Amino acid sequence: MSIEIRDVSKSFGAFKAVDGVSLGVPTGRLVALLGPSGSGKTTLLRVIAGLESPDSGVVCFHGENVTCRDPRERRIGFVFQHYALFRHMTVFENVAFGLTVRPRAIRPPRPEIEKKVLGLLKLVQLEWAGDRFPSQLSGGQRQRIALARALAVEPRVLLLDEPFGALDAQVRKELRRWLRRLHDELNVTTVFVTHDQEEALELADRVVVMNRGRIEQQGTPMEVYDSPANPFVYRFLGHVNVFHGRVREGMVTIADDQFGDRRAAVYVRPHEIDVERSRNGNGALEALVKHVSLAGPVVKIEMERTDRGGNVEVDLTRARFDELQIKTGDRVFFALRNMQVFPEDYVI
Ligand code: ATP
Repeated sequence: MSIEIRDVSKSFGAFKAVDGVSLGVPTGRLVALLGPSGSGKTTLLRVIAGLESPDSGVVCFHGENVTCRDPRERRIGFVFQHYALFRHMTVFENVAFGLTVRPRAIRPPRPEIEKKVLGLLKLVQLEWAGDRFPSQLSGGQRQRIALARALAVEPRVLLLDEPFGALDAQVRKELRRWLRRLHDELNVTTVFVTHDQEEALELADRVVVMNRGRIEQQGTPMEVYDSPANPFVYRFLGHVNVFHGRVREGMVTIADDQFGDRRAAVYVRPHEIDVERSRNGNGALEALVKHVSLAGPVVKIEMERTDRGGNVEVDLTRARFDELQIKTGDRVFFALRNMQVFPEDYVI
């Protein structure tokens, strides 16, 4: 089931929470809506679900306009951040809920419901938990049950709103991989909301970066990470160094104030900077090493430019660091391997 959103806007009073958003989600894809708090992600998800009606614009499921359709008619599975399970029901009853509340005419017979629920519990690897109550499960287990419950009604579309937001980092990571595998198995068109860039980049087929109710950029995780469309996306998707420079005749310099006439900002990710012990060519700038952080597979170096000040963050591979043997107080030279230039006055 594909989803198409065309020019959707939604205001609360004078505040535009979603502002002219268009977005297509092909069948079977896993799409992340990523953005800071208040950027309109949840509102857009609720519009897709039919829990919120847009002021203008259209939502289509598989080419069919569902904008005015009731949420129940849309056949959607919804999972929220707080595992909203029914506390007085067992896990089994929770998962079965969507089926048991159906009108008698379309309710599956009891043995069929049982078979379905047991299959789903197996799918989320909690087949032993059917008789337990939610309070007897961990947060991660409850969230898996919430997902099984959402899947029980065979949704055409699965919508997840910060599904792992309330869990600790380790459990989040495990559930992320687990959800990816589950999605590959079931292929239900899925849209999930997150403000965690790592989660979006690791999990999604496509990432939609939102800011102030609009889409700043959409693309594969690699496209948005490697080629951010603007400074907002650059900053939101990870660490970045910003050098202030000048441009003339298509050349930009961050070393010479007199060089050009137009001001520009040069964006460089920490892993896109090479460090050398000695000056290596014209592009190399001198810096003083302020701090070396050895934890983890990447070595983080914080340095300060000696020509005009300003901190520079560099990520080195362990192997490169071992070659260089850098320590605090050393003088080194650095060059930018990859960069993007934006006008200095770019308005985010
Ligand atoms: P978060 O990550 O914090 O959940 P979000 O990107 O999901 O943020 P939304 O929940 O969509 O953002 O909210 C977007 C804006 O719309 C916010 O400023 C919020 O205060 C406002 N908003 C959302 N729902 C309502 C509502 N029912 N009434 C009034 N304002 C609302």
